[in-house]
Amino acid sequence: MSGVWRSGLRHRKLPKAGFTGCRAISCSGVQAESKGPTPDNKAYSKTLLLPKTKLTLRSDPLESEVPFRNKTTRDLYQWQWDNAKGPLFVLHDGPPYANGHLHMGHALNKIVKDIIVRYKVLMGHKVHYHPGWDCHGLPIENKVLQQLGKDQRSIDSKTIRDAARKYAEQEVQQQREEFSQLGIMADWSSGTTYRTMDHAYEMRQLQVFKTMVEAGLVYRHYRPVHYSPSSGSALAEAELTYKDDHVSHSVYVAFHMDTKGESMRPILKTLLASRPDSHLLVWTTTPWTLTANMGIAVHPELKYSILSQKKTGKTFIVGSTRVFDLTDILGEVEEIAQVEGSELVDSTYYPLFFPVAKDVTPRYPLRILPSNHVTADSGTGLVHCAPAHGAEDYMVFRSLDLLKPREGSSDTGMFCHVDAEGKFSSKVSEVVGESVGRKLVGKEVLKDGNKAIIEVLGDMGVLVKVQKIKHRYPYDWKTDQPIIMLATSQWFADLNSIKGDALKTLDSVSFFPAGSRRRLQSFVQNRSEWCISRQRVWGVPIPALYHVPTDTAIMDGVSLKHILSVLGTRGTAHWWDGSVEDFVPPHLRKEGEDLAALYRKGTDTMDVWFDSGTSWTMLRDLVKNADAERPYYADVCVEGTDQHRGWFQSQLLTAVAATKAEGRVVAPYKHLITHGMVLDPVGKKMSKSLGNIISPMTVISGGKDKKKEPPYGADTLRLWAATVEYWNDAAIGSNVLAQCALSLRKIRNSARFILGVLEDGRSLECLERVAVGSRNMSLADRYVLHELTKLDKVAREGYATYNFAKVVNAMSNFCNVTLSSLYFDVTKDCLYADARNSAQRRAVLTVLEQVLRTMVFVMAPILPHLAEDVHHVMSGAEDPASGRSVFTTTWEPLPSEWENPCVEGDMNRLLSLRTDVLALLEKARRNKNIGSSLEADVEILVRNQSTDIHPLLRREQDFLRTLFIVSDVSVHDETPEDHTSLPWKHEADYGNDLRVVVRPANLTKCPRCWTFTRHPEEILCRRCADVIKV
Ligand SMILES: [Zn+2]
Repeated sequence: MSGVWRSGLRHRKLPKAGFTGCRAISCSGVQAESKGPTPDNKAYSKTLLLPKTKLTLRSDPLESEVPFRNKTTRDLYQWQWDNAKGPLFVLHDGPPYANGHLHMGHALNKIVKDIIVRYKVLMGHKVHYHPGWDCHGLPIENKVLQQLGKDQRSIDSKTIRDAARKYAEQEVQQQREEFSQLGIMADWSSGTTYRTMDHAYEMRQLQVFKTMVEAGLVYRHYRPVHYSPSSGSALAEAELTYKDDHVSHSVYVAFHMDTKGESMRPILKTLLASRPDSHLLVWTTTPWTLTANMGIAVHPELKYSILSQKKTGKTFIVGSTRVFDLTDILGEVEEIAQVEGSELVDSTYYPLFFPVAKDVTPRYPLRILPSNHVTADSGTGLVHCAPAHGAEDYMVFRSLDLLKPREGSSDTGMFCHVDAEGKFSSKVSEVVGESVGRKLVGKEVLKDGNKAIIEVLGDMGVLVKVQKIKHRYPYDWKTDQPIIMLATSQWFADLNSIKGDALKTLDSVSFFPAGSRRRLQSFVQNRSEWCISRQRVWGVPIPALYHVPTDTAIMDGVSLKHILSVLGTRGTAHWWDGSVEDFVPPHLRKEGEDLAALYRKGTDTMDVWFDSGTSWTMLRDLVKNADAERPYYADVCVEGTDQHRGWFQSQLLTAVAATKAEGRVVAPYKHLITHGMVLDPVGKKMSKSLGNIISPMTVISGGKDKKKEPPYGADTLRLWAATVEYWNDAAIGSNVLAQCALSLRKIRNSARFILGVLEDGRSLECLERVAVGSRNMSLADRYVLHELTKLDKVAREGYATYNFAKVVNAMSNFCNVTLSSLYFDVTKDCLYADARNSAQRRAVLTVLEQVLRTMVFVMAPILPHLAEDVHHVMSGAEDPASGRSVFTTTWEPLPSEWENPCVEGDMNRLLSLRTDVLALLEKARRNKNIGSSLEADVEILVRNQSTDIHPLLRREQDFLRTLFIVSDVSVHDETPEDHTSLPWKHEADYGNDLRVVVRPANLTKCPRCWTFTRHPEEILCRRCADVIKV
């Protein structure tokens, strides 16, 4: 009846009562002439029970969200923490980096978490959720160095650290304010949030470090690591990004073989006997590493060709499968012979720079080495090895035990001529000689240093070819500058010793989506050590003392115990500010010694992944008190897919390492949930340069131009986050947001209609509810309760399995199909025109009250503001801030007996018949036979009395006129006699057994309810007459 009422309401000028329930029949508002006495329409309209509610039609976030904000976030968190009686549920927050405004990734992350914890609160759990921030590290340090506007070497570490702390605090404050606008249930004050720069946090982290040192898991090593000259620090794999279009100057160079070398295999010796001008052709994309060459690797099982170059007569050795491609480089060649790679092994060659540095004696005989990492896919099949600049080279040398420092020296056993700034150091002269050294020293290896080397190679006549190539290359993700591999002394955590336990621990962790397990497993599997030191000042110190005379590090449990007690009292900044004497442990102090001269403090800080990785330590006491048997700390962690190599992993490794040392391995988490990235509408990553960034704050509060960027409020954004399959990458754009806003409006309108007929709960005050399933409940009532029970079940399942899209789909479907298109339409006549306490009306109100209650639970985790708003309106309180949050009531499942497949079966059969009836009514409307469907009656002719549907039609005959929204439905065994005199009729067969006829209504229009059920001699229809007692 909505069409009728809509036109009626408009006519009657009711304020703000524009309910727009959808209905299957659209009525044009044309009214048939009414016959009989002329009634007073206006007077009757006042007797109708039209919806009245305080819930506003449209939601302006300022009105509908902000007033509920504290109640549903801070106050709710505190309430449930103090009052919830259910089991503890810990959602452990991965700390976002405290730098910059929030982006969509932050919003998606925090909303997904919030949906989970809100659901848990509704289930009666006591939820622990402390949001955190990652505060140390290079981006902040760089930011303050820029602000300080000086060269970092000229600023003392205290100034940098103080400025960095201040900066981080500001950023935390800003992000805190932005996060709270998303409607996140948390107490954002300092006691219930954490920062990795908090003193207590840092001390817990250092205790974990100490435990790992005591367990022998931490060591110092000189070896190649990812090193960023632009950051002046080593980097972990997680701090790299790879660019596919990096351009390098690659070179082909010829290493001169020592054809008289003693270790050469006889077959090769014979082949090369008359060829003293024999060369090994090598290709490298990093010419600057050639000064550090310590060997050339071949694959022992590949074939190699000995080639004679036509134009020079020189001999070259290359991989046989590369010969064809290399003729571009070598020109015409003749193959003299082929040998196995294994026959090349152990042959020696002259140092590459021998021609310019004759006075320099090589440290070792330079040899050809076997290695399985050599391939014949590119290059020459021979690989130049510089262990200081390549992890694989280093591993080859380690495995062959070739890295031996010269006795009695601080030598490292590796050639390395690059300093901490990425420039050639003076040591390079030891290889290239003094005069060439002067051309190189102080030049950056990634820039002019590389150019200078290529020039030297050219001058020496060993350069066969230079080629520019585009290839994949690692960059420092913070400075966006290329990195190098560089041997430096770093602190490492030994992962080989704990890898097995870590992988075993993962077996007890569940993953969503399930496939993400493999990702974390492979990251852990493929790592044998973790470089944990950084050469920065804004971080937690690695508190190592060095004994100056022997240049050895002191790193043991006893020393750390002393150092940590000093830092515990005086703060970690004291490591930088205090004197070394404060830190020398008692057992190393001897009377009369000048400690300041004997010892120095290390200057490395810890990898920030170690900082955030130890965040599980916050949960230890909490969990211990809650449940001694619980073998994990957090119930759930939720982060983006990049955290498999970051926080998920660093938490696992530190937790397993530390707890194993204490005798019982505890997993840092029980469930890991991974979400994807947020992309623009065409699937591109959001970036400043593309100009496609959508800020969550703009979505909530609107942009400068409110027409283009309207204020959607937090619930719309939250609905978006719940709608997308967040475990994949998710797109967002203006169209998607507009759709979400529309969906939200539909849900709001459904709630608003129900509130209206319930008169915000007041109509229920003295009203006797109708027992579910009793005879007073119509088929539609029972059907809606059945569908509601299904919705309740699906929503619980969806939340419990983190599949919120499932919840949104079920909820939208219920609102749009079950409620708006069906139930609201068919009950309006009863709700508006029946006596206030008619049994039928009470039945509908009973159903609607339950529908609203369940809908509020179903929507609450995703749409907390709307849920609070509805709850508030129902409570009758004036001030939105007063009264309890909707989340303070536990969401109990609906009685399972409400689910009734028989009711569903019956209803589906009638709905199928309804589709045919509506089609006929539409035909009548198109023919201008009727305006409103109420002007028609429906007759159903049953041809076959034994048909299944017959008893159903008989039983539900009264209900059918409600279902079809016509004035009367009659069921006949044969065609009624008056058919011949009808001005019009439309009919159609429904299957073989039924015929449906749509015909003019028999009776006349009732001026109160507008159904055609009034006998011409009466003023009103009998129902209406009864209601208003005329
Ligand atoms: Zn009436």
